[in-house]
Amino acid sequence: MRFPIITRWLELLFPETCVVCNDVLRYSEKYMCTQCLSDIPQIYVHNKQHNPLEELLWGQLPFVRATSFMVYTKKSKYASILHTIKYKNHQQLGIAMGEMFGAELLRSGFMETIDAIVPVPLHSKRERSRGYNQSSLLAQGISHVTDIPVIDTAVIRTKNTESQTRKNKEERTQNVAQIFEVAQPELIQEKHILLLDDVITTGATCLSCAESILEQGFVSNISVASLALAR
Ligand SMILES: [Zn+2]
Repeated sequence: MRFPIITRWLELLFPETCVVCNDVLRYSEKYMCTQCLSDIPQIYVHNKQHNPLEELLWGQLPFVRATSFMVYTKKSKYASILHTIKYKNHQQLGIAMGEMFGAELLRSGFMETIDAIVPVPLHSKRERSRGYNQSSLLAQGISHVTDIPVIDTAVIRTKNTESQTRKNKEERTQNVAQIFEVAQPELIQEKHILLLDDVITTGATCLSCAESILEQGFVSNISVASLALAR
């Protein structure tokens, strides 16, 4: 750091706070306080019997494995992690959460045989206005830890749909039907890909994207992961 004294003063004037509970962070803490970090409502990947994402996708998609890092309800204080990454331009938090998830995926053997990570794409207009795709940040974090490459140009989103937030399950499925296209199938052909989303609620967006990939991408296998599963 070039100006350690100035930086220290800025920290005193504008202390960094926990993205979950808003308490001021201690010197050794980053993004989240120790308490919130240890209380993350985590889904342990190796605990196959209690995997709510697999249960959600069963019968709807031929997948190899599926898991989320954590599960929460809309009112949970942990929803703020996703909100901060998506709407507050906190790109470093996205990468850091991806690294945390990546370490768990690696430890559990989940990444075995996976050749590439494919983040669910945003429409190019939305990505330009936000400046980034939050799922790509998570993918970068997972890639740092696992050394598995991110491929974020193979699949594109052809329609800029309305937000899914206020829609019921059927409306959500309708809203995202046929909105993805495989633009460069040669990048994912014959690969086992990990389709990665930031939050899965009903699974409609992720399923629509997976269907397009299975129809047009010539992949050998597909697995699915999301940082959060919202309930
Ligand atoms: Zn906290």
